[in-house]
Amino acid sequence: MTETRDTVILGSGCAGLTAAIYSARANLKPLVLEGHEPGGQLSITSLVENFPGWPEGIQGPELIDNMKKQAARFGADFQLAHLNRVELGVHPFRLHTSAGEVLTRTLIIASGASARWLGIPSEQALIGHGVSSCATCDGFFFRDKPIAVVGGGDSAMEEALFLTRFASKVTLLHRRPAFRASKIMLERAMAHPNIEFRTNTVVDEVLGVEEKEVKGLKLRDVVTGASSTLHVDGMFLGIGHEPNAKMFAGQIDLDDEGYVLTQGNVITTRKGIVVPGVYACGDVQDRRYRQAITAAGTGCMAALEAEKYLEEHGR
Ligand code: NAP
Repeated sequence: MTETRDTVILGSGCAGLTAAIYSARANLKPLVLEGHEPGGQLSITSLVENFPGWPEGIQGPELIDNMKKQAARFGADFQLAHLNRVELGVHPFRLHTSAGEVLTRTLIIASGASARWLGIPSEQALIGHGVSSCATCDGFFFRDKPIAVVGGGDSAMEEALFLTRFASKVTLLHRRPAFRASKIMLERAMAHPNIEFRTNTVVDEVLGVEEKEVKGLKLRDVVTGASSTLHVDGMFLGIGHEPNAKMFAGQIDLDDEGYVLTQGNVITTRKGIVVPGVYACGDVQDRRYRQAITAAGTGCMAALEAEKYLEEHGR
């Protein structure tokens, strides 16, 4: 017979691991299902300078690794598995994963958000051949080569700055004249001698599909309509993320962009009515702050709610 867990945590990013630390310390022996991006976004970022307690900053993967060790020390279990289907209308909840069926009394959804792509065919054809959404993973391959970064938020600035370590030149392409990036990140990127900014510019095509490597970009100025070609060997996307909550559609409320709608930060609802025992935390439910520290904060809240639910309804 399949064992019933007290708490299953879906996702092993900052939110999921914080929930794991708290629920493990409450003796709930949580099972953390690590999906297709173990460690979440912090595991593919570089220096994290705004997580309290690290005055000199800490590398994202190291921070995640520390959190995982901390959760494991208190008894959290980890399993690499993808959630295919979930049944929240039965008790215990039934999770159909790539590693088999899992039953649980409470579920903490910390499945985060995944990198967004432009969606043009030439970009999709060249992912892994010069097109990437992860500067820290792939920047190394572009030593002394010109590259482009697309986006106008903090991710794009961070990627552009990081890539100056390798690239001969970074061209930052943004579709508008105004930026979403925080002032400090924007100023840092703008002050860098090897980063050139091109605003009001979109990518119409990534060149090099036949050669199976990026040869350049066909760009368009959205104000003048003029087309141009930019010679680059790589294109990095820094255009935001999509919440990983599609598998919950119809079972809990999602907003119009697919983020989990929550009450009191982490409590899920279905048609506006609370779904007891199911909590959401981190980037899958946060379209406003989306910081490592806020993800950790809501991860803590979700674990405390799960603990309270189990106390009230029995384990
Ligand atoms: P974001 O703030 O949502 O910015 C996404 C950017 O991509 C926007 O400039 C957007 O343009 C552009 N974009 C979206 N779709 C596009 C498309 N199809 N084609 C071209 N451009 C497109 O996302 P983010 O930069 O990933 O940041 C998310 C959150 O994480 C933010 O709260 C940010 O502060 C935080 N973050 C912090 C750090 C740090 O502090 N070190 C690092 C990374 C991220 P428009 O502006 O025109 O919409």
